[in-house]
Formats: sequence, C-alpha cells, structure tokens
Amino acid sequence: MKFDVDVLRYLSKDDFRVLTAVEMGMRNHEIVPTELIDRIASLKHGGTYKVMKNLLKHKLLHHDASKYDGFRLTYLGYDFLAIKTMVNRGVFMAVGRQIGVGKESDIFEVATEDGRVLAIKLHRLGRVSFRAVKSKRDYLKHRSSFNWLYLSRLAALKEFSFMKALEEHGFPVPNAVDCNRHCVVMSLVQGYPLVQVKQLSNVEMVFETIIGLVVRLAEHGLIHCDFNEFNIMIDDDEKVTMIDFPQMVSVSHRNAQMYFDRDVECIFKFFRKRFNILFEGSTDDIDGSEVNIDENGRPCFTSIAKNVGFLDKELAASGFTRKEDEDIKKFIEVEADSDAHSGDEGNEILENVSNLEGASIRDIDSLHFHKKGGMCEIEETQENFEAGGSCES
Ligand code: ADP
Ligand code: MG
Repeated sequence: MKFDVDVLRYLSKDDFRVLTAVEMGMRNHEIVPTELIDRIASLKHGGTYKVMKNLLKHKLLHHDASKYDGFRLTYLGYDFLAIKTMVNRGVFMAVGRQIGVGKESDIFEVATEDGRVLAIKLHRLGRVSFRAVKSKRDYLKHRSSFNWLYLSRLAALKEFSFMKALEEHGFPVPNAVDCNRHCVVMSLVQGYPLVQVKQLSNVEMVFETIIGLVVRLAEHGLIHCDFNEFNIMIDDDEKVTMIDFPQMVSVSHRNAQMYFDRDVECIFKFFRKRFNILFEGSTDDIDGSEVNIDENGRPCFTSIAKNVGFLDKELAASGFTRKEDEDIKKFIEVEADSDAHSGDEGNEILENVSNLEGASIRDIDSLHFHKKGGMCEIEETQENFEAGGSCES
C-alpha cells in the first residue's frame, strides 16, 4: 500500500470525525453498518454520507455491502488517525519521506516543531505473503477474534515498551518517544542497516559488540528473535544500534534456546560471508560476560547467567494485559514459521474486527497539511475535503 501524505492535507474536522466513528464501530463490528457510523458521528444534514464518499474515494475507508451496507477502516485510514493524534499531542508536526520498508512496517521521517527529525514506524501485521496470511487465518480461526488492526496496535505497543526498557538498561536502541495505535515514534538512527555496509575498519570489534548484545540481552532475560543484518544499524563511527523489537521473547520461552542460537548463527553467517572472516574461538570474552563458548566458537545459551536484569519479568508486568501478550505471541510464533515476505495482499484483509482502541470524538478537530521543505506540514483548518486543495503551496 502506498502511504500518500498528500491526502492528509485535504482532511477536515468532519472527515476525522467520521473516520473515528468507524474506528469506534470496529470495536465490535467487522463491517460497521452505515447507519451506526452516522449515529456515532452525528453530523448535521446527512453530512456523514457525503464525508464517507470522500473518504472512500481516498481509500481511507473500504465499502462492503455483501451482508449489509457498511464500512471499515483501511490501513491508510488508521495511519491518519494515529498521525493526527500525534500531531495533536505536539509530538511532531510534519511527515516527510519514507526511509524504510520493513517486512511488516513502513518507516517515515517526521519533523518536530523545533526542527528536529524523528522516525515513525507504522506497523502492518497483515502485510505478508498470501500463504502466510492464509496459515495465520487458519490458525486464528480457532481462536477468539483477532484482527490486523488490533495486532498491529499490539505490535507497536510491545515495540515501544521494549525499546523504552532496553534504553533504560543502557542498550543501544533508538530513543522511544511516543506510541499511538499502530504507530511508534522514535529517534532517527544516523546510520545504515548492516546489510548495506561493505567495509568496516574494525570488523572484529563490531562483531564482538554485536554478539555481546545477544548475550547481554539474554542475561537480562530477553531474546531478540530477529537479530540480523537488517535490524542492526551502523553509523560512520561504527557505533551499533539495534532496532525492531515486536517479536522479542523471554529466556523462559519454551523455544528460547533455538531462538538464541538462531540469532547468534545469523550474525556468524553474515560476518563470514560479507567479511570473509572466521571467528571460531575468539568470542570467549564477550562484553565482560562469563559465557562459555562451544566447540564451534558460539556463545552457549545454557551457560549464560540469565535474568541479571529481570527485564523480561519487568516487561511482562507492564505494558500489556496477559491476554494481549498471549495474542501477539501466538501470532508472531506463526509468523516466525511462515517465512513471510512483504506483499500487499494483507492490507485487504482486515477481518474479525474487534478490540480496537478508539479515540474520543471530542479529541477530533481538523488537520491541514501543506508542503514545506519536502515535509508535509500540518495545521488546523475548518475546510473540508473538497475545498481542501486551496492549501497547496
Ligand atoms: P520491520 O519490523 O518491518 O522489519 P524495522 O524496524 O526493521 O521494521 O525497520 C525497517 C527499516 O527501516 C530498517 O531496516 C531501517 O533501515 C529503517 N529504520 C527503522 N527504524 C529506524 C530509525 N529509528 N532510524 C532510521 N532508520 C530506521
Ligand atoms: Mg526489521
């Protein structure tokens, strides 16, 4: 799906009011009946219908008349609700270029009022290959109701909580700024994913830092579970930052050893292939840890003094309810087996809708974007969609 920030420039107070009404209706309707949207939004003189037509035209809503006449939010619609909330909170005021496309996310630059540039990650848990979607649907069919917006919101909340906790415990991660719906705001990492790095002046040191992180995470009770050259950023000074946390698990997970070994193996394999270096036996003093090294030179999971920081338990006690954590764990376990790659099919599948976080209609006022220095700036306006072209500059 293409995220077209320009559309946001044309959204009025009424547009957001109706979008929010649909979001509220989706808490207990897969497809929200049109009359219900009208009742929640309560715009005068049949205004809701006109607004819905516009939202549909801009793909913020999806129309479904198969069982009854109704609408649901698209990811785009959900994006704009999250962005609007962040703008209202003063977290940022403009959305810039896209800087990353993850397996299940889109990353954009955003600008704050005082000119700082941050990053937002919009989670898209439905965006996977058709086969993976199907296996998930088969799996999820037997469980209580799930939906992709709900799962994306959980992924964002989990990522935000983990990023914050890791930062507090001195791990090199982006600064976690804020979180709303499926959107995480964080500091922009000045660097490149390791996969893009062809040369390092101090390969051995970078390698040991990275393996040291896997070990230190385990000592704190956590396993990254997707620790690879795409989720490690390196800056010009060869400083390492790790990113991408929604799939992390506790060292008490029943597959912990396998996940740990897989993370370690990914790093060994990458450094062997890219830098043609064998590290067997050279990792016996990782970051001051007392970890044993096996006969292949890999840190040994069972020898790690786990739960030094009890971070897994701390996190389990905060952030999510048990049910939410179970929901996301089940989903991500299926995900890990499915070897999913990105594709657009998932965006069209927003089924079994329930449990959505809703914004209060009272919070809704209007937004306006106009172009300034490559960013789409946002300001208040009373104009509606159709009149919205006037702010082009
Ligand atoms: P996914 O979970 O979809 O893999 P990631 O969190 O790994 O998403 O982000 C995808 C890509 O976006 C990363 O590989 C990286 O290039 C870029 N990216 C993510 N977060 C940041 C950030 N805070 N600063 C700069 N680039 C980032
Ligand atoms: Mg990633």
